[in-house]
Amino acid sequence: MVALNVVMLGPPGAGKGTQAERFAREYGIPKISTGDILREAVQSGSELGRTVKAVMERGELVSDQLITGIVRERLGRPDVNDGFVLDGFPRTVPQAQALDGIVADRDPLIVVEMQVPDEELVRRVQGRRVCKVCGTNVSAFGTDPSQVSRCEKCGGELVTRSDDNEAVVRERLRVYWRDTRPMIEYYSGRPTFRAIDGAVPPEQVRQALVGAVTGMARAAGLSVPPGARA
Ligand code: AMP
Repeated sequence: MVALNVVMLGPPGAGKGTQAERFAREYGIPKISTGDILREAVQSGSELGRTVKAVMERGELVSDQLITGIVRERLGRPDVNDGFVLDGFPRTVPQAQALDGIVADRDPLIVVEMQVPDEELVRRVQGRRVCKVCGTNVSAFGTDPSQVSRCEKCGGELVTRSDDNEAVVRERLRVYWRDTRPMIEYYSGRPTFRAIDGAVPPEQVRQALVGAVTGMARAAGLSVPPGARA
């Protein structure tokens, strides 16, 4: 059995989470979002949550060691044997190096970078709401906020992420260009790396993502599962 081991890269607000979730659903593999794991920990008030809360609220990165430990444990579970979609990890060169070690005996990583200009990201992130119950992202940009107070999927309350205000978003973008962009260079020479335009409508991004992943997988000699199991 061939595994699709997908890594989604891109700045905050690029649409990684939404696209990763849909892709994972269609291909029947788990989406692993380090941001979601950390937010759940903060909400539950666990020791991990207490450790990372302030760092996240400032828009900074939690330590490589901590986040790598979380991902190592998660990728050790049997549900990732047929593949996974990683969203929000890695974000630094040491994290990317650690990931290579973790997956050394698996099918090659298929890495896709979603590119979106900074000003578009600030605009998007300010309009983003997230469901308090199921974590679904909703874009409220340009609409009356009272129209989007409940989650379409589960009826849960929609809230603004505490790190989605303009000052924090700008800090997250600064951190992105400083720490994460150099990490993309780490992957960009590989045959299983491709960048796609994330500034086009979501359906077009989805098609580009599926095309990029399946194209790279085939080129790497992997037989690609048909997908569309949604
Ligand atoms: P995200 O939802 O991916 O934007 O992540 C939200 C926040 O969680 C980030 O701004 C960081 O504070 C933290 N975080 C998530 N993933 C990582 C990671 N791979 N390395 C360091 N910090 C992370």
